[in-house]
Amino acid sequence: MVGNSSPKKVGLAADRLASFYGRDIVSVDQFSRQDLGYIYGVADEMRSLVKRVGATDLLKGHVLANLFYEPSTRTSSSFIAAMVRLGGSVIPIHGVQYSSVSKGESLPDTIRTLQCYSDVIVLRHPEIGASAVAARYANIPVISAGDGTGEHPTQGLLDIYTIYSELGTVDGLHVAMVGDLKNGRTVHSLARLLKLYDTEMSFVAPDNLRLPQDIRDEMVAAGRTVHETDRLQDVIDRADVVYVTRVQRERFQDLSEYEAVKDYYVITPALMQEAKPRMALMHPLPRVGEIQYDVDDDPRAAYFRQMENGMYVRMALLAAVLGKV
Ligand code: ASP
Repeated sequence: MVGNSSPKKVGLAADRLASFYGRDIVSVDQFSRQDLGYIYGVADEMRSLVKRVGATDLLKGHVLANLFYEPSTRTSSSFIAAMVRLGGSVIPIHGVQYSSVSKGESLPDTIRTLQCYSDVIVLRHPEIGASAVAARYANIPVISAGDGTGEHPTQGLLDIYTIYSELGTVDGLHVAMVGDLKNGRTVHSLARLLKLYDTEMSFVAPDNLRLPQDIRDEMVAAGRTVHETDRLQDVIDRADVVYVTRVQRERFQDLSEYEAVKDYYVITPALMQEAKPRMALMHPLPRVGEIQYDVDDDPRAAYFRQMENGMYVRMALLAAVLGKV
């Protein structure tokens, strides 16, 4: 049980396992391996609880404000499902055009408003750093659900959880990330979390969608072996995890540039024959052609299990920041 006396923004508690209570989640850089182990242990419990009885009243009387300035299916509905399965309630704001945001209200004022009615805020926003700004204004925890092309910390957490549940370990693996590594925020969070593990990483992207140099430098500084290529064939037979991403159409100024690269990589059953017999094919979803539908029956296709895992990890995070586990 996490202590219940540390208010938000006191900083890291001496006992890292008690350090979730009242905390914002805005970047994966705030987590240690010990933190991850703790959250994954709780997520395992949440999974068995949901399978056994469906729901609990752990967060009864608590309210989540789910504030989305960008489209979402999985992240937003899994946070809602997570809160409801924990016995709490949700204020869903998914069409900001119907809120005072469309009247020109600033993010800080919107946050100041929602904190009067809720105990935790989940925020998706198109600008890098928006959740950190929101966290500065809020006196309740703010959890980032993705900020522009920056990070998507809860996706990174559920991705590592999925690697554990698919392959039993993260250390010693070769992880290949494929697609739009420049704009894909899930890749940025996952790569940063993989720094915590003894992994080899391959970044597979066309030249104009390569991983940002600063993230690559972080990997190298952390002592990781990093390869870059634009050819999936170079790594498909060696990777334990192939993490495919969509080319992020909404981040392109010039749509002809998007059209030129959108079908650069397509996972087919024939390509999967070249992959290891034991590996995990992952994708944060939505897919828009990068993985053919006839790959779905391959036992190595982990993306639907991956999205289910998102709910258990988000249940664990909500319960942790609200001091209930
Ligand atoms: N759903 C993920 C995100 O919000 C991945 C994507 O949209 O491509 O970043």
